[in-house]
Amino acid sequence: DANRIAETVARVIGTVPRPVALHEPEIRNGDIAAVADCVRGGWVSPVAPIARRFEAELGRISNSEHVIVCSSGTAALHLALLAIGVGPGDEVLVPALSFAATANAVVYCGAQPHFCDVEPQALGLDPAALARHLAACGQAGPNGLVNRNTGRRIAAVLPMHAFGHPVALDEIAAICAQYDLPLVEDAAEALGSTYHGRPVGSIGRIGIFSFNGNKIVTTGGGGAVVTNDAALGEKARHLGTTARRRDTGRIEHDAVGFNYGMPGLNAALGLAQVERLPELIQRKRDLAGRYRAAFAGMAGTSLVEELPDTRSIYWLNTLMLDNAAAADAALAALHERQIMARPIWTPLHLLPMFRDSPRMPDMQAERLAACGINLPSSAHL
Ligand SMILES: *Cc1c(COP(=O)(O)O)cnc(C)c1O
Repeated sequence: DANRIAETVARVIGTVPRPVALHEPEIRNGDIAAVADCVRGGWVSPVAPIARRFEAELGRISNSEHVIVCSSGTAALHLALLAIGVGPGDEVLVPALSFAATANAVVYCGAQPHFCDVEPQALGLDPAALARHLAACGQAGPNGLVNRNTGRRIAAVLPMHAFGHPVALDEIAAICAQYDLPLVEDAAEALGSTYHGRPVGSIGRIGIFSFNGNKIVTTGGGGAVVTNDAALGEKARHLGTTARRRDTGRIEHDAVGFNYGMPGLNAALGLAQVERLPELIQRKRDLAGRYRAAFAGMAGTSLVEELPDTRSIYWLNTLMLDNAAAADAALAALHERQIMARPIWTPLHLLPMFRDSPRMPDMQAERLAACGINLPSSAHL
């Protein structure tokens, strides 16, 4: 019951001071010194060389040849979608269970999110459901695949690695290849996660990370576009730096661009933090292992787990209960003990701004969202 669940979580996290946050950044003295050095040096804006050094380091970590650091993960997602050509009147296939930014960025491009179901083990986009749905609603059009129900072009598939767990990329990529759809990875929560031994992010055509304050590596606020396609990387960088021409000495722009660069100030913090990524991942995986051992065999509970042959950073641990009432009771019992667990996202297709967006019928995302709670997951735990 709820008290037994709360006591189990309390035992795993031990005697750390209450209240216990869901996820806290870890700022060390070296991080503070790196930011202070950056401020003293005067290179604080997005043109700072340290921002290029952070990009090089992210490229190494994520096996990406082209990295563009941005002011947020949401801005990075907007640029990634623009770079692959998502535009007004298009639809983009997105998971119904995600942070709102995944669908918001689609709308920033003038397109519509088209919500797809997720699978229960890792909460990622369900390839079987995607295949069934595209077989039912996809139709070949002059400019690519069209949703026969709306008449709109389907421009991309945008899976999200939920809570750090890599989605079934091979299966999703095979469906993308069948319909000639670009695959864009929302890897905001998954810096350092691997799929079949390869880092997620740029396994698809293009992808993004977030460095918001609650992510595994933080720059305060920030994000990055990653790709191995030089043309896409160049387009994303151009649009994110006010589309200013670099082939002329004049101040000239060739499109309405965006001011989405990451200030050097933030990159300095990110570069200092990312050095500790392997250690942070190890500690987060250890914590996930302790939750797994503590809940093993407890009736009415299960943990969301990485898929086979993937290695998740376990950004947030997720406990699934049997029903919404059990999840609410567990949350109340945890909050009573000053343990700041929280419900997972409300499915995006139920939010008012997406009420009229296209979606798959009968999604299990609704039941999963009602039954799932995130447990405290800071690396220091
Ligand atoms: C954090 C996050 C983003 C980007 O968020 P920002 O706060 O803009 O950096 C995008 N998608 C998902 C799934 C996220 O968790």
